[in-house]
Amino acid sequence: MKLARFDKDRIGVVTGSQIVDVTEAAGVDPAEWPPVGPTRLIADFQRLRPALERAAAEGTPVPLSDVTLRTPVPWPNKVVAFPVNYHAHGAEMGAGYRATGQGFFLKPNSSLSGAGEPIILPETPGREVHHESELAIVIGKTARNVAREDWRDYVFGYACLLDMVVRGREERVARKAYDTFCPVGPWITTADELPNPAELRMQLWVDGELRQDANTRDLVLDIPGMIAMASAVMTLYPGDIIATGTPEGVGPVKDGETIRITIDGCGEMNVPVVQGTGGSTEIFAEPYQLVKKT
Ligand code: MN
Repeated sequence: MKLARFDKDRIGVVTGSQIVDVTEAAGVDPAEWPPVGPTRLIADFQRLRPALERAAAEGTPVPLSDVTLRTPVPWPNKVVAFPVNYHAHGAEMGAGYRATGQGFFLKPNSSLSGAGEPIILPETPGREVHHESELAIVIGKTARNVAREDWRDYVFGYACLLDMVVRGREERVARKAYDTFCPVGPWITTADELPNPAELRMQLWVDGELRQDANTRDLVLDIPGMIAMASAVMTLYPGDIIATGTPEGVGPVKDGETIRITIDGCGEMNVPVVQGTGGSTEIFAEPYQLVKKT
């Protein structure tokens, strides 16, 4: 099933290029704040699935182009992210470590945005804001100390994710925390539709120029390893998102450009980049430009 969130906190099931509103069957109240309905839906999915399928079959389909896609899980417990998890990206960054020995960091939930929403660039003159194309894993079941071989029991689904970042040497979280710096979508593809997430091609273009083209088979710390490592340290909850790391080819984006990301089985997002006002801070006062190693 392809489960989307759209317009004002509505829940939809996507088939082809159409979406059916299943908000009621999902038990989600669009007026609720904080918007934990989608988180609860994921936790209760096995029980709700028959009703969602019925609602999707009986409802009126609307073209996807008529709705605004939002981030599928706006209020997860956390977004976990693995740095330097493809060797060729580690090489281009001149990083002497890999996720296997380094672990993970967190992105704030407030950085999440959706496929139908722009990335807003902060006012950080002298700094590049880079795209990082990543496969997102959405957790489906409370997980603690998960053994590698049990990883599948805890995965709800997958999505495309853009881990946007201000390049520099300051705290990683601060550089990756701006609002709209974590587009996720266009929807969640449930795990039953993607039996082999370790063999997915992922591509990213900026204004039609192919920048990143990789396959999840090249992950350094694989998906079972990421779930085992993260859950060894902390409890993972339904709706938690894992950004699995970016391959080589990261680079700057500018006002007016469009980022396109596609991942096998996960669909594609076309996200406009817009220069915003605000976001200036002394953290990024010193200019910095990434010199990529080859
Ligand atoms: Mn990343």
